[in-house]
Amino acid sequence: MTFDPAKRIQDVLLFGEFGGVNPSITDSATYTFMSNEKMEELFDHEIEGCFLYSRHWNKTNKYLSDVLALMEDGEAAHATASGMAAISSTLIQLCSTGDEIVSSRTVYGGTYALLKNLLPRMGISTQFVDFQNQAAIRAAITPNTRVLYCESMSNPLLEVSDIPALSRIAREHNIQLVVDNTFSPLILSPLRLGADVVIHSMTKFINGTSDCIAGCVISSHDFIASLSDINSGPCMLLGPVLDSLRAASLLKNLHSLHIRMTQHGKNALHLARFLENEGLTVYYPGLENHPHHQWMKTHRNPGYGYGGIVALDTGSKAAANKLMSLMQEQKVGYLAVSLGYFKTLFSAPAHSTSSEIPEDELDSIGIGDGLIRFSIGLDRDIAQTCEVIQHCLTEAGLAPTKAA
Ligand code: PLP
Repeated sequence: MTFDPAKRIQDVLLFGEFGGVNPSITDSATYTFMSNEKMEELFDHEIEGCFLYSRHWNKTNKYLSDVLALMEDGEAAHATASGMAAISSTLIQLCSTGDEIVSSRTVYGGTYALLKNLLPRMGISTQFVDFQNQAAIRAAITPNTRVLYCESMSNPLLEVSDIPALSRIAREHNIQLVVDNTFSPLILSPLRLGADVVIHSMTKFINGTSDCIAGCVISSHDFIASLSDINSGPCMLLGPVLDSLRAASLLKNLHSLHIRMTQHGKNALHLARFLENEGLTVYYPGLENHPHHQWMKTHRNPGYGYGGIVALDTGSKAAANKLMSLMQEQKVGYLAVSLGYFKTLFSAPAHSTSSEIPEDELDSIGIGDGLIRFSIGLDRDIAQTCEVIQHCLTEAGLAPTKAA
């Protein structure tokens, strides 16, 4: 039977303490023990259903993590206070001083800055490579490499990573493949395609209401247990714990993720086709001329579309800024970073979410001054939204070139 991540979520029944349809939220930083022996035992090793202190684990975060593991078809998961906490904890757990990471050069700006500026202070270095070029990846791997790192769909140009091919390279060299799946929850299942660790910024689509920052790591039982080890785990010792009230609201939002992803995807495809039809340069994996469209068709979980992000190259910073101001005035959405919100958000990555990447690198990747990243909202009538965008394009001097 086809794997269906939304059905996995749907089949979860979590009864609250008093029979509530939502499980009770744990409101405790610490937990009582009925004997000294039990406390000593728990400090020694984990005991199923026993909680020690909320920074280590609590029941609400466990409920959420267990559902995330089902969604990604992993053995276990750990919810964290942010996507960056999930990424940094994972990499610190996998690498020690002297170790190396080979990363895709097209990653979120914050991830790039972590790899480029912060991890080297701990003696962990990174080589940034074009992940579409497997020979370049192989050439960058050394005996010290521990991790291949990429995003399933890259930010913001939506290059799709060939996870099975990357997994083969990782296996050959006995290293771990870590995939950030923030842009394509439900659509792609990286663990099933051969990744060892999957990460999400739950701030985005998984939560969907842009009202909190959160993240998660999904992997094997052993890896997830190592993250919260009392003596050495980064999720325990660096303290990136998700608040249990937030975990409870994320768990509720997770149950509407399939409806939202489908609608984001439908709207994004409509907008991408509209912009393409206007003669503009558009990046969207749902478009037939996108270089990874066929790959997506073969490897995605069917029924959730191709994602809610579309990139548009307007050609110049001035045109991009003009268009974004007009679209905000005309209520298309907000000029704001982030993604996965129910309203449309747009920003220019070169001057915001990718600004940590040096200018020459941005140029070689193809992230120009005029690039706009759209996170398409859940608009009921996307054709009407496109009409408004058409007016904005005309006013910004980006009118159709078709007739010319
Ligand atoms: N991964 C991707 C692909 C992102 O776009 C972001 C943030 O924009 C992050 C990770 C970091 O997540 P957070 O802001 O939740 O720490």
